[in-house]
Amino acid sequence: MTISFNTEQILIGGQWRNAENNQTLDLINPSTGELLCKIGRGSENDIDDAVKAAQTALDGEWGRMTATQRGRILTKIGEKILENVDELTRLESLDVGKPTTQARNDAIAMARYMEFYGGAADKVMGHTIPYMDGYTVYTLREPHGVTGHIVPWNYPMQIAGRCIGGALAMGNTCVLKPAEEACLTALMFARIAEEAGLPKGVLNVVTGLGNEAGAALSSHPGVHHISFTGSVGVGKLIEKAAGENIVPVTLELGGKSPQIVFDDADLDAALPFLVGACIQNGGQTCSAGSRLIIQRGVYEKVIKMVSEKISAMKVGPATDDLDVGPLISKKQRDVVEGYINAGLESGLKIAAQGQIMEGCPENGCYVKPTLFRDVPPDHKLAQEEIFGPVQVATPFDSEEEAVKIANGTDYGLVTGVWTRDGGCQMRMAKAIKAGQIFINNYGAGGGVELPFGGMRKSGFGREKGFEALYGFSVLKTVAVRHG
Ligand code: NAD
Repeated sequence: MTISFNTEQILIGGQWRNAENNQTLDLINPSTGELLCKIGRGSENDIDDAVKAAQTALDGEWGRMTATQRGRILTKIGEKILENVDELTRLESLDVGKPTTQARNDAIAMARYMEFYGGAADKVMGHTIPYMDGYTVYTLREPHGVTGHIVPWNYPMQIAGRCIGGALAMGNTCVLKPAEEACLTALMFARIAEEAGLPKGVLNVVTGLGNEAGAALSSHPGVHHISFTGSVGVGKLIEKAAGENIVPVTLELGGKSPQIVFDDADLDAALPFLVGACIQNGGQTCSAGSRLIIQRGVYEKVIKMVSEKISAMKVGPATDDLDVGPLISKKQRDVVEGYINAGLESGLKIAAQGQIMEGCPENGCYVKPTLFRDVPPDHKLAQEEIFGPVQVATPFDSEEEAVKIANGTDYGLVTGVWTRDGGCQMRMAKAIKAGQIFINNYGAGGGVELPFGGMRKSGFGREKGFEALYGFSVLKTVAVRHG
């Protein structure tokens, strides 16, 4: 296994260099549990340098570019991502343990973000506002300035793509802090962006630990906007740190998203989504459709269909490209196994489990996809985000009860509704507390064009789609008195 660049180097102001004092961290291959390579352990001073470089870039050529010029660069980055899709796929599979097909989809999605935001860059417009006689009033959308981006390990390419793409489209400069468990594609993305002509210092990448480089970025007074995707616990810290500097934040946090199946649903059409929306990426998806809330009349039938699909699922090394790869780390595997054991200890029944293939490396982080049935809605397995391939099923009788169960967690990220009844579709779309509602489909992690974000503890602010561009910009009102 070779990596074509020096993974220990971070990017600051167009210079690839070692982290302060040449500090490094180990990056582990979750398929084998073996050392993959070393990465730089960025420090508070490295972050400070990166923020200063981003400010310098903002004051330079980038700050003077037209929106069309920025859009062209983004589009070019998208083209170059597609040219490098094989290598990005390979790196992501090694680093995150994603089966190759999933890793490839993520690389293509990152290219889509660049294309989408490249095309959108010069289409963000202000308004004119009718005001008093003798005045012309209009609004302008301007970049915040230096933006900080702290991203998790589960979809490194998609999440970096969506926040960096949106921020650059609006003319911001960026400091990206990838997750310490998975950062190779962020480093390669930065190399691709350089090749595509992004000026020096516009995108800076500092790898390192959350409580070091991440904390330094979120509390840096030179950062004007923070985009964070990750856990609720760290989200709270980011919000506090940003609050000290009165800086706006976008928080994309966790979820416990339901898929509600009514008696009249087209079950054959639903089945791939009912399972895939949770188990894809080993269940490590913030918007995983991990709670199946099923109407009594089809409950046993759906349990049988889902069980058959889950039992047939194969788990193995990323490069074998099976249904499910390893989880990101032993720590994550232990957390997920802890939930499975807690379910069993409290008397819950497992309806089905997939298979870990023979010959998987002993130190790989493998967990069987698991379906628990008849899970009370207030059980920990139905309330807490497991972030692994564990699905819970709960029956319901009335539409009212379905809404109560669906809305009965701290989260509100995504919901899927499966019914042919148009009236029920509309009522559910209104009654459910979630940032995205899918009717007769489910887009876990998908949809570059679709505004995405949470309610309640799933966070606030919107990324993806055109809507994100409002978050990555600030509105200025200009009132001209001309008589
Ligand atoms: P995490 O919160 O532990 O880490 C996310 C990022 O925050 C990493 O880059 C980490 O280094 C950094 N970080 C950690 N401590 C920090 C601190 N004190 N200050 C600043 N930065 C810090 O989350 P994770 O375990 O990497 O990811 C899993 C979580 O992310 C899940 O809860 C999942 O639901 C959520 N997630 C949400 C979305 C979404 O869009 N809503 C997408 C993916 C993941």
